[in-house]
Amino acid sequence: MSDRGGDNLTATGWIDPDGGTGPAGSVDSVTGLEGLTQQTRRAIEAVAETNDVVVASSSFQSQSLPLLHMLSQIGSIPVYFIDTGYHFPDTHRFRQQLSELLDLEVVAISSPISKSQQRSPDGRLLFASDPDYCCQINKTAPMERVASEADVWITGVRRDQNANRSQLEPVMQGPGRSRRFHPMLDWDARSIWAYIRHHGLPRHPLEDAGYLSIGCAPCTRRVSAESLDDPRADRWFGIAKTECGLHVDLVR
Ligand code: SF4
Repeated sequence: MSDRGGDNLTATGWIDPDGGTGPAGSVDSVTGLEGLTQQTRRAIEAVAETNDVVVASSSFQSQSLPLLHMLSQIGSIPVYFIDTGYHFPDTHRFRQQLSELLDLEVVAISSPISKSQQRSPDGRLLFASDPDYCCQINKTAPMERVASEADVWITGVRRDQNANRSQLEPVMQGPGRSRRFHPMLDWDARSIWAYIRHHGLPRHPLEDAGYLSIGCAPCTRRVSAESLDDPRADRWFGIAKTECGLHVDLVR
């Protein structure tokens, strides 16, 4: 293991084991889905082939499938699923289905704080009284504990998902000694769906019930008029919150 996590990563991408360098997932130098896929996969392989401790996280939505599929082909990288205790049962079933289909090493993590202790002074559960704190306890803290023990933390964030994420860089500082690696940054909804169709991968069952971006049940609603312009508009609807907290510290 290196003294400093992710030394094979540069500020703009990865150092290819063959000696070349390049942006992770850039669409400028590739044409079409095949080129984008090859470039992304090569970037992840370059990281996996080092002695660094590499972990990935996934929310197990349909949008997660290209990254999960590439990770399954590369192997050896555990995928952490943050079990907040508030996911739809369909998401747990989909996670199980994908874990078996793709032969992934999936590790579920959760907060050690019981839900009965996660209440406001007036007795409301935190997702209703203080959703930022709810995300901090149930998502950010459990994942940061894992990532801080790793050298590289791979996530599937994309620039097209919201204004915060449009500012992210391919490689950024992570918790502790780790560095975050964002190999999917320049993918978009079109390339995601093209990949899923091309590989005949299954979709999250709630999409047929009218959900586009699927998180915790209390903070997700069916597709609305707003989501035609912003696919994540149906998360935390009615409150000024667009991020779960896992990535918001990267944008100041
Ligand atoms: S998305 Fe909602 S329920 Fe899930 S951790 Fe955040 S505030 Fe809590």
